[in-house]
Amino acid sequence: MRESGTFSHREPGSACGPRAFMRALWMVFSVLATATVEAAELTAPAPSRDFYFPNTEELAPDEMRVIALGTGTPHIRPVQAATSWLVELGNGDKFLFDVGTGSLRNFAGLQISYNDVYRVFFSHLHVDHVGDFDALWASGWTGGRLRPLQVWGPSGTEPRLGTRHYVETLRDAMYWDYATRSGILPEIGSGIEVHEFDYSQAQVVYEENGVTVRSFPSVHILDGAVSYRLEWKGLSFVFSGDVTPNKWMVEYGKNVDLLVHEVYMTIGQLMEHFGWDRQMAMTVSRRVHTTPAAAGEMFSLLQPRMAVGFHFYNDPDTAPEIEREIRKAYDGPLTLARDLTVFNLRPGSIHVRQAVTPQRTWPMVPDREDFARAKRAQPRKMSDWLRAGQLPIDIYTRPEDSGAGAQ
Ligand SMILES: [Zn+2]
Ligand SMILES: [Zn+2]
Repeated sequence: MRESGTFSHREPGSACGPRAFMRALWMVFSVLATATVEAAELTAPAPSRDFYFPNTEELAPDEMRVIALGTGTPHIRPVQAATSWLVELGNGDKFLFDVGTGSLRNFAGLQISYNDVYRVFFSHLHVDHVGDFDALWASGWTGGRLRPLQVWGPSGTEPRLGTRHYVETLRDAMYWDYATRSGILPEIGSGIEVHEFDYSQAQVVYEENGVTVRSFPSVHILDGAVSYRLEWKGLSFVFSGDVTPNKWMVEYGKNVDLLVHEVYMTIGQLMEHFGWDRQMAMTVSRRVHTTPAAAGEMFSLLQPRMAVGFHFYNDPDTAPEIEREIRKAYDGPLTLARDLTVFNLRPGSIHVRQAVTPQRTWPMVPDREDFARAKRAQPRKMSDWLRAGQLPIDIYTRPEDSGAGAQ
């Protein structure tokens, strides 16, 4: 009866005719076509011209991807973390340049394993450039990093002003944190190796796997700040850190593919938004940072394939004035970076867009078996009297090897 009921809805005389055959053929074709499109979308999503969706695009063997993790100032805000830039290369290498306050939150959205991002270069030791280093250490350790962090950074005019002092005293300050996790997490993930180099020399500070990173002096408030130039497969990236216009940048920043150069706010903006008087705004702008007009002159001298400005409040009511100032001297390609602006560099093209990142991200543990097997240190024990104060409920009363921990 069910079949006859179904048949009753067909057009009379159409069950076996040529129209029915063509319709059936079309339906089969439609289903197959849909399935093919869906399979293609699942396995190889087409790159979006508008947005970068993390972990959906393989880098080409000669491609560099640079992502702004923080573009703001020491006064961080929800829309802009402080300075940090991630460089990813087609050979799989990844590098962090600075790790300023708040930037790790943007990094987490990219869903990259901390095991792959362990090379960090400090431009200088202002908190807006290194303030999330403790978060990188702890977040990576708890997130499954199975190697020590490697930190490159400048010396100062005395040991206390150098990168080694900063990292070692920070480690010491984090000792309670270390002592609680050591014994539970793989010990190797707690390690930090420091490569401090002479801030006053222009020199190669890293050379491996076809990648060269050169450091050169930056003129920024006090001795001990540097800028960097990374080169790989004919592509180049310069990161100024904080800087005023200087001769080393002219020498080592020339003809670069991607010039990430600080641009500070205008005198008027500093007076209006920070409440500074003209004298203070002038002093900080000229002796410590690069004004938008001066940045325009530097861009014009350096002629990058793409000039990128950061280190200012990039808002609808500030950016146009900053761009106008830059354009007084420079008419080449320009991007005023925001957090999560993404640059894809290839020999013949530079593609700029924004990343769209998920919010509720989980750790990207590189290998769960390696993580479980990795050597732990002897755990520390809390005092007996303190442990005895724990309430005897549920799993806390069972022996630890009873499997209760897996529940
Ligand atoms: Zn600074
Ligand atoms: Zn800064």
